[in-house]
Amino acid sequence: MTLPKHGRRAAAPTPARFRPRRTSETRARRARTDVPRPDATRTVLAAAPVATTLPTSKRRSVRPAFSVIAMAFVGALMLATSVPALAITATDSEPRASVYAPVEDTISLEPQHLEVASEAEVPAHLAGSYAVEAAPPPIFSEVANVGSVTIVESDLVVWPVLNPENRSSGFGPRSAPCAGCSTNHDGVDFNPGNGSPVMSIADGVVVLATENGGGLGVNVEVQHNIGGELITSSYAHMQYGSLQVTVGQRVSAGQQLGLVGSTGQSTGPHLHLEMFGVDGVRFDGFAWLGERIG
Ligand SMILES: [Zn+2]
Repeated sequence: MTLPKHGRRAAAPTPARFRPRRTSETRARRARTDVPRPDATRTVLAAAPVATTLPTSKRRSVRPAFSVIAMAFVGALMLATSVPALAITATDSEPRASVYAPVEDTISLEPQHLEVASEAEVPAHLAGSYAVEAAPPPIFSEVANVGSVTIVESDLVVWPVLNPENRSSGFGPRSAPCAGCSTNHDGVDFNPGNGSPVMSIADGVVVLATENGGGLGVNVEVQHNIGGELITSSYAHMQYGSLQVTVGQRVSAGQQLGLVGSTGQSTGPHLHLEMFGVDGVRFDGFAWLGERIG
């Protein structure tokens, strides 16, 4: 049976003997903490070094005031950093804090977006001018030992020699100037003087540069894109060792190719200039250049 044990333990004299002492100690502690005695308050405040020299009455009034100022300062900081500038100039007369700008101010910003949209029309204008200045498609030409080359259009043409007015033989039918010379002259003979520079009539690509041109002697051929048309110029009878260009090289109008000489089938120093299109048919280079140079 367990009942007798419980009964005996509940009636044990040991807990009853200590109960009055515990009650009196607890009552004494409560009396020290619950009753606001001046000595106890002074002891607690003395632990704080700031308030040691102030009387008790001032200490109680300064601390809440300081807290209110600090809270106001923090509140002002939060307001200044979080509220948009427009909210300060709000027309709302009521003294209430709001992080939202008035609707009227938001609407007044709309014209700025419209100004940006008007400036966006400038690139469209520039794009139009780019379209006008767009380069025409280049001509693709197959050059021996070089491969396919692109020739961009350039309509600037110049005379191939310094003194184009000095000529000995024009284009077309003629009486042969020498035995073996053609009676139908397929070029123009310029006589600027021996050793004068021979220049490319326009921008282009060198497609032939040889010192063994047969009757043409030291010969250079340059292809041009003039008005979208493939034009070839051929310079003959130049001096040995005077070539300044090689096959595949890009040259510009007026660039020196070699020097006037008398190599090949020639009776004297002169430049024999031939010009032809894609059909290979020769035409009057002097007349053609004269029309474009003026
Ligand atoms: Zn000739």
